[in-house]
Amino acid sequence: MMEIVFATNNEDKMYEIRKILKGLTIGGEEVRIFSMREKGIDADIVEDGETFVENAAIKAKAVAGMLPGTLVIADDSGLEVDFINREPGIYSSRYMGKDTSYREKNRNIIARLRDAEGEKRSARFVCAAVAVLPDGRQLSTQQTLEGRIAHEERGKNGFGFDPIFLIPPYEHTTAELTDEEKNAISHRGKAMRMIRKLIAEAYTS
Ligand code: IMP
Repeated sequence: MMEIVFATNNEDKMYEIRKILKGLTIGGEEVRIFSMREKGIDADIVEDGETFVENAAIKAKAVAGMLPGTLVIADDSGLEVDFINREPGIYSSRYMGKDTSYREKNRNIIARLRDAEGEKRSARFVCAAVAVLPDGRQLSTQQTLEGRIAHEERGKNGFGFDPIFLIPPYEHTTAELTDEEKNAISHRGKAMRMIRKLIAEAYTS
């Protein structure tokens, strides 16, 4: 049994990641995925990178430094809304402060787009994933899900900005998808499947 530590304490993310990486084997060995909390790590890592990949690498390297010999994966994700200069971008988790509800955050984004129609409402979810292997090698990928910002919130699944993120043909938000449907197309699903492939390749080369 091999262990992977995922450098996050965000339970919503862990829930998606466990589903996406379910059944993962590396070099024929079964893999068990732990969150930082499950490994007793309570670090407040300063994410001061300028890109999603930089921030994911900062988190992965910090946790790898605390758990030598362990394969560590981290992700950094967010929403880019073109009409408002790609905000909130890398600041997505801090947008309007941690104590503001997503209902308020989502309504704020909708209000800021009152003068935008059709393709001017374009947006994307971005997810970077970085793995630090036990021998120190670093692997990374960045994936996106293109969509548009809705005029009102719709759907109860997912988390964060899902209720306002419409996917082509722009009739449903990602909060109206089942977990499986979202993971099959999402930025995080694609990033996790790619990092899983890169890790498998690194172990055979
Ligand atoms: P991170 O923990 O720094 O990666 O912050 C990610 C933030 O981006 C989350 O707290 C959400 O605000 C937003 N976000 C990222 N992925 C998603 C998603 O799949 N659905 C909704 N919001 C997301």
